[in-house]
Amino acid sequence: MTAAGVPDVQTFDTRAIQELDAAHFLHPFTDHAALRDKGARVIVRGQGVYLWDSEGRQLIDGMSGLWCVNVGYGRTSISQAVYRQMETLPFYNSFFNTTNVPAVHLAAELVALAPPQFSHVFLTGSGSEANDTIVRMVRRYWDILGQPERQVIISRQNAYHGSTMAGASLGGMAGMHAQGGLPIPGIRHIGQPHYAEQGQGMSENAFGLVAAAWLEEEILALGADKVAAFIGEPVQGAGGVIIPPATYWPEVQRICDKYGILLVADEVICGFGRLGTWFGSELMGMRPDLISFAKGVTSGYVPLGGVLVGKRVAHALVEQGGDFHHGFTYSGHPVACAAALENLRILRAERLVEKVALETGPHLKAAFNQLATHPLVGHAESCGMMAGLNLVRVKGATAHACVPFARALHVGMLCRGHMFDNGVIMRAVGDRMIVAPPLVMTRAEIDDMAARIWDCLDLTLADVK
Ligand code: PLP
Repeated sequence: MTAAGVPDVQTFDTRAIQELDAAHFLHPFTDHAALRDKGARVIVRGQGVYLWDSEGRQLIDGMSGLWCVNVGYGRTSISQAVYRQMETLPFYNSFFNTTNVPAVHLAAELVALAPPQFSHVFLTGSGSEANDTIVRMVRRYWDILGQPERQVIISRQNAYHGSTMAGASLGGMAGMHAQGGLPIPGIRHIGQPHYAEQGQGMSENAFGLVAAAWLEEEILALGADKVAAFIGEPVQGAGGVIIPPATYWPEVQRICDKYGILLVADEVICGFGRLGTWFGSELMGMRPDLISFAKGVTSGYVPLGGVLVGKRVAHALVEQGGDFHHGFTYSGHPVACAAALENLRILRAERLVEKVALETGPHLKAAFNQLATHPLVGHAESCGMMAGLNLVRVKGATAHACVPFARALHVGMLCRGHMFDNGVIMRAVGDRMIVAPPLVMTRAEIDDMAARIWDCLDLTLADVK
């Protein structure tokens, strides 16, 4: 180790760590037999938008860690805020009429940042816990209102809402449902607003209305008096950066209003500036009753999540509900809240949300439009600091006219491997390659990332020719 605690690449024994890792550490979402054979990449340091592995390789982080390091790595003001809070009060709970100062300030600040219909915040340790809270809270809300039969929550196929029993059930990932008997009762899934896959022969806006109408069909099939809420990510992240047509969310909002159904925006990825607004729902024309959040609230420096609660639900819970039998040891953890407060200060002080809207988001869009001219790329899309491109066997004039690769070729994974080996972290969802870089990524850094991506597309093309 060097004085700064960073492994010295000359002496660091990467193989020994990989062996220990494979022997004892069960990683999330990982094929462990493959991990044992190849060995995990050991990430040892981050600064700004760059990471370094234990062999000294520099990587540009196109995924913000896991969609979360919005303010970039190496922010000493966050580590200092955390240190100070640990010295003062490392922990106290917020159960049974107690509170702590950072949690109170954070709740007030989040409400001030949120759209005007919000008045309260419930704090959790993660995005999954936030969505578990949503399930319990919406059912409790309808109980209080004397309509306990309103139980069903409608979600979408290919959505991602976390990995707990409720989170994975709300999510629409077939692979997750196949393991462990999910979804739990009372969760239904409709189609996603994925124009490139399902909008053949329609304009994008016409398809948006068709996809929203699937919600109304499901409500009518179930009976509106059985439906508690509809949940969706403003832009689906883990599903592959699926950007809905402009008509989709306003029409979903109209349908929820028509049947009195609560609208829940899962902003675990889209919140805190990712789309160039504090909350993605603001950009998409949604007026949610509840917002789940996590990740960007602390830029991932310390785990924290929560639920922003609109006045409609808060009034019932606070004025009529009595004790809500729900909570986590780490709800309102003072250290996590101190990290969040400093992270929000940085986002504001550096005007990062405005920058995404006016400067870096448009620059990322231009870079991806340029990447779309590569012979391997069918089309590219972006929204704020999220972007995706599709790898195709034959390019066409439109997304629908492209010819995909056979799935068994796993071209996306092949491409992702080249990216890792050549210093750029990008994720593959099937043959769709996606990024969600730190909001601090500069225009020059976006150009650096795009140049590395182009080179890796060339390498992938050479493999599949
Ligand atoms: N919701 C969305 C939209 C997410 O992308 C994620 C995680 O990626 C979650 C919920 C779950 O958050 P966590 O992993 O913090 O439990």
